[in-house]
Amino acid sequence: MSEREQAVVSNVSTGLFIGGKWRESASGARFDVEDPATEKTLTSVADATPDDGDAALAAAVGAQASWAATPPRTRGEILRGAYETIMARIDDLALLMTLEMGKSLQESRAEITYAADFFRWFAEEAVRISGRYSTSPAGGSRVLTMQQPVGPCLFITPWNFPMAMGTRKIGPAVAAGCTMVVKPAAETPLSMLALASILAEAGLPDGVLNVVPTTSARGVSEPLIRDPRLRKLSFTGSTQVGRMLIEQSAEQVLRTSMELGGNAPFLVFEDADLDAAVDGAVLAKMRNVGEACTAANRFHVHESIADDFTERLAARLSRLRVGRGTEEGVDVGPLINAQQRETVESLVSDAVERGGHVATGGSRTGDSGYFFEPTVLGNVPRDARILTEEVFGPVAPIATFGSDDDALVQANNTEYGLVSYVYTRDLQRALRVCEGLETGMVGLNAGIVSNVAAPFGGVKASGIGREGGFEGIEEFLETKYVSVALP
Ligand code: NAD
Repeated sequence: MSEREQAVVSNVSTGLFIGGKWRESASGARFDVEDPATEKTLTSVADATPDDGDAALAAAVGAQASWAATPPRTRGEILRGAYETIMARIDDLALLMTLEMGKSLQESRAEITYAADFFRWFAEEAVRISGRYSTSPAGGSRVLTMQQPVGPCLFITPWNFPMAMGTRKIGPAVAAGCTMVVKPAAETPLSMLALASILAEAGLPDGVLNVVPTTSARGVSEPLIRDPRLRKLSFTGSTQVGRMLIEQSAEQVLRTSMELGGNAPFLVFEDADLDAAVDGAVLAKMRNVGEACTAANRFHVHESIADDFTERLAARLSRLRVGRGTEEGVDVGPLINAQQRETVESLVSDAVERGGHVATGGSRTGDSGYFFEPTVLGNVPRDARILTEEVFGPVAPIATFGSDDDALVQANNTEYGLVSYVYTRDLQRALRVCEGLETGMVGLNAGIVSNVAAPFGGVKASGIGREGGFEGIEEFLETKYVSVALP
């Protein structure tokens, strides 16, 4: 590590953050955080036990009433202050994120800007929480509704966007007047710990936010999910884990928001602007090294233009520079760990064994670090696993379709329903296809959908609820109705 890298890492408080204090775990245990580009240890972090989880929930419960009673403007100003600090420190935060997660510095900066923007957006939403008052249809009574914070929350976040997946929950929860316990992914706890310090500096009262990194995710989270003091679980991660958490939540009928896996189809129709489609494909596929729930997972291209599209996309991806994310000019960093690289490798070999051809890339690369070449696979047959499983890597499998109906059937032929991408210049076709797609979001001639002002979320096995937009804060509010007699 360079001196600057060392300084950025050692600046992070690596304890548990509970009730406004940094402390070691009850067991004294710590776990290592690794740089996926070098396979070397960056630092160690306190490893929370179930007792620590309980203490964190107790702190959140203790702070709930006074936080809910804090004026919305004050809550919003704390978020706004944290937004300013994040943006002022973006260089250090980006380096920290690249070190623990791998993506290029440019991508880390983009994530941090997006992450901070949730604080700015929800700072503005905090003061717009309202209810309604109306006369009942028959007269004689009034309908009064009020919106109140749901109460103490548990947030479980993934490693692929270590800060944005946190702020997308913390921002609206703080704005709504909820307190919270956050369990970040063990691969990338440092960005969340740095964020906790920033929120404390911005004036967030003790106990409103508590952070408990741990290597025993289930051991710490399950007792909290079954604890009646907890009122809400918001999870971002795989569908497999999401299903288990929903089951655990059933016991106390806990409110849940679930942002789960995706298998995004990227449809290119014969009338599409092919240059724009290739630009969009590079964005939708390569953002975050392909490790995004919104990543274009499979490309369905009209048979008349598939060869042309494959050639152009392969030319673009072959020019990307793979390397350590901290290095100048690097476009594509390593995958998060050895297991993820093996998954990507096995999906590629399965597609090739079934008749797909490698138009570019196809192999791991580098002496150390979990690097995989940007890859384009042409003529991928419909039974290839890569068309149905989440790739989470820099691989673009291309299959073909013959008609609009065929495209829609293939696009919807999955348990997932997070996002889809559509490239066409025909307005009627665009609207018909958007209506027919079974996903919560559609990128129409756009390779990226993430936007703080928009409701992000999926249907089917991709999740429940929305994050961001006007809808984002509703996930943290309960509606109470008061029937007022007024003869
Ligand atoms: P993961 O489900 O393995 O882990 C996510 C989080 O859950 C981590 O904090 C992990 O420690 C925790 N966890 C794992 N097992 C648990 C258990 N038994 N009990 C409680 N917590 C547990 O997912 P991942 O590999 O970290 O992230 C990748 C997945 O996340 C992909 O499927 C991706 O599509 C999804 N994702 C979805 C969105 C979205 O908004 N829909 C965004 C980012 C990532």
